[in-house]
Amino acid sequence: MTTINWLEAWTADDGARRVDELFTRSFDGSPEGVWSAPGRVNLIGEHTDYNAGLCLPTALPHRTYIALRPRDDDQVRLVSAQAEGVWETRLSDVAPGAVQGWGAYVAGVAWALGEAGHKVGGFDAAVDSCVPFGAGLSSSAALEAAVAVALDAVAGLGLVASDAGRAELVDVTRRAENEIAGAPTGGLDQSASLRCREGHALLLDFRPGLNPLESGVPVPFDLETAGLTLLVVDTKAEHSHVDGEYGARRASCEQAAELLGLGSLREIAPTLGGMGIDRALAELEPHDPDGVLRRRVRHVVSEIDRTARFADLVREGRAADVGPFMVASHVSLRDDYEVSCRELDLVVDSAMAAGALGARMTGGGFGGSAIALVRLSDVDAVAQAVAEAFADAGLTAPVFLLAPPSAPAA
Ligand code: ADP
Ligand code: MG
Repeated sequence: MTTINWLEAWTADDGARRVDELFTRSFDGSPEGVWSAPGRVNLIGEHTDYNAGLCLPTALPHRTYIALRPRDDDQVRLVSAQAEGVWETRLSDVAPGAVQGWGAYVAGVAWALGEAGHKVGGFDAAVDSCVPFGAGLSSSAALEAAVAVALDAVAGLGLVASDAGRAELVDVTRRAENEIAGAPTGGLDQSASLRCREGHALLLDFRPGLNPLESGVPVPFDLETAGLTLLVVDTKAEHSHVDGEYGARRASCEQAAELLGLGSLREIAPTLGGMGIDRALAELEPHDPDGVLRRRVRHVVSEIDRTARFADLVREGRAADVGPFMVASHVSLRDDYEVSCRELDLVVDSAMAAGALGARMTGGGFGGSAIALVRLSDVDAVAQAVAEAFADAGLTAPVFLLAPPSAPAA
């Protein structure tokens, strides 16, 4: 039998103890407190955020912990169990393009809070995490969100107390990632880590101009009562050119929207008074000899529709019926959007063959993680089948996580 590598989430006490000890070992005295924030997994709605579309993430039980103490000056000193040495900067030196390394995700949050008019000073902090890096489960947003709630507390900002305040922290942490860490992500990750609720998925709508109540709606997602669970498979696959491929997909979407005279591909939707997919594809045909633009558009438009229908089913308490939408999403990402890879396809195929109700790649693609919706009684059999399929194919052993919809940054 092939061994199955499970990555268990730490308990809150365990996470707090780890960062408290790391802080005490690295700096004199004790931290003022400990805060934490989850990684996330996207149930459906992939490559839709930058098309003003919908997506539906949940928070993972796996979290990043931070022990933090404010300073009287504007120095920032950081240690992480996942990085070597002490990372240091002065807050006044933080600016776009000016800071390198993992501390940019942390100092960037303090910088973005300042840009938003909130006064924060220097601090010492220790970080530790059970969210895997670069697995498409958003360790970067977990780190940013943990920092955001810690600084909110020590500076007495009070933003964490309301969903509108949390939505403001989403903007702050996204600016930190885009402008200081230099990663052009669309806001899905930060929204999930800061605004998801335990036992819920979060229906995010990226149409411009919506208020927080409209842009992020919690949808009860009670898997346990339905006898189900969400299995996450970190494929450990890393492919080169990921950033270039992501940029190319975004550019195709922008080009198609421009050819159609639309602000975004979302506006094709008939429910928003749009022209509908058939007319959009017909109008693109003369400009699209190889069919690439039309395939990209077909993915985006159909994925937004699938996300809305998936959320409706979940809202009706029919979580067991969403499987076909997951598989359709994967096929669309594989064939029309062309962002899957051998490892992700293998998870989906082997999990479905072993009895999963649905499975799909999650995150941007070209490696990272896939998810499977499985009956509680089938978890071991499905994980076993996936692990064996990887072993048979001579691939690196994948890592498995259980992902009940968990609590946000706190
Ligand atoms: P993902 O968000 O999918 O895990 P990213 O490349 O967006 O992958 O973010 C990973 C980066 O975030 C790491 O390379 C590191 O710079 C930073 N990071 C995340 N968590 C930690 C941590 N616990 N300690 C230090 N750096 C971290
Ligand atoms: Mg990230």
